[in-house]
Amino acid sequence: MQDVIRLLPESLANQIAAGEVVQRPASVVKELVENAIDAGSDSIVLKVKDAGKTLIQVIDNGIGMSETDVRMSFERHATSKILSSDDLFNINTFGFRGEALASIAAVAQVVVKTKKEDDEIGTTIEIEGSEIKKQEPISTPKGTSFSVKNLFFNVPARRKFLKSNPVELKHIIDEFQRVALAHPEISMLMISDDKEIYNLRAGNIAKRIVSMFGKSYQEQLYPCQEDLDVIKVRGYIGKPENAKKTRGEQFFFVNGRYIKHSALNHAIMTAYDSILPESHFPFYLLYIEIDPSDVDVNVHPTKTEVKFADERTTYAIVSAAVKQALASYGVAPSIDFGI
Ligand code: ADP
Ligand code: MG
Repeated sequence: MQDVIRLLPESLANQIAAGEVVQRPASVVKELVENAIDAGSDSIVLKVKDAGKTLIQVIDNGIGMSETDVRMSFERHATSKILSSDDLFNINTFGFRGEALASIAAVAQVVVKTKKEDDEIGTTIEIEGSEIKKQEPISTPKGTSFSVKNLFFNVPARRKFLKSNPVELKHIIDEFQRVALAHPEISMLMISDDKEIYNLRAGNIAKRIVSMFGKSYQEQLYPCQEDLDVIKVRGYIGKPENAKKTRGEQFFFVNGRYIKHSALNHAIMTAYDSILPESHFPFYLLYIEIDPSDVDVNVHPTKTEVKFADERTTYAIVSAAVKQALASYGVAPSIDFGI
């Protein structure tokens, strides 16, 4: 019998692996915007065309990349963010797997322009289906501009399964909102098909909530805060009477990272217990700060799930913080957002 096992060509292996990271245009937006934040940017612009199907562009003013680094950044497992397995349990950046750019470049046409602050001249690189087509010097401002064109151009089966533009755009807006709420100190602009969707100036959390959800939110929220040695919780929770029939406006951030956590969600819902109208969901936006070594973000490739070392204590503290906030505002005052 002949042997039948072969190693897959690298481009095909990359395409397969890309399926994990890049499900839809919104996944690309998430990865690029997170990279922009990791690069220390204080201004980020997101432009999309056709709900990201023809173009996703993220422009930042962060540290930029050298000529060699920008080539390296597209290799699988190439990262500047961790060095050893110890670092895995002490993660302070969004990225760390070094997989996103390799995956994106495997299934799209990518053009990067980048320059480090101290470099005279920048560099531009074009990659298509994992293959470098061209790299040359270019004059460009400090920071990085990433254009991802024609997502899944070489995987027609996946391109066909993309949803309608309104649905894909909604996913992109969800990602943009999460990052914008996690980082009110960064000014963020989003443009879709030449239309401005958000133009958010740098400020504090309260200002960001108002510029994102509308002025009426000033009257609808209570501050919520708990300061313990092991864990800090702060943010805003919605008044019960403003609860909505959909869950859309519920946000947890752990050390600056948006997460989904059904147990923590439950902790909040029990705090509201009987004071909510039937089948209604309160607004909440809670930031949890915890020692990075007490939380494992390495449980899922897209990293919206995390595992707390002490889940029960975290649950109890979050629930108590929300209960206390609700109790201390037995009467509903409006918050002075200072704007
Ligand atoms: P990860 O973020 O997990 O390290 P990525 O594939 O997303 O992996 O990025 C690979 C590397 O490319 C990063 O570690 C970083 O050094 C560099 N990089 C990516 N995006 C940017 C950016 N916008 N500005 C500066 N460097 C970047
Ligand atoms: Mg990354």
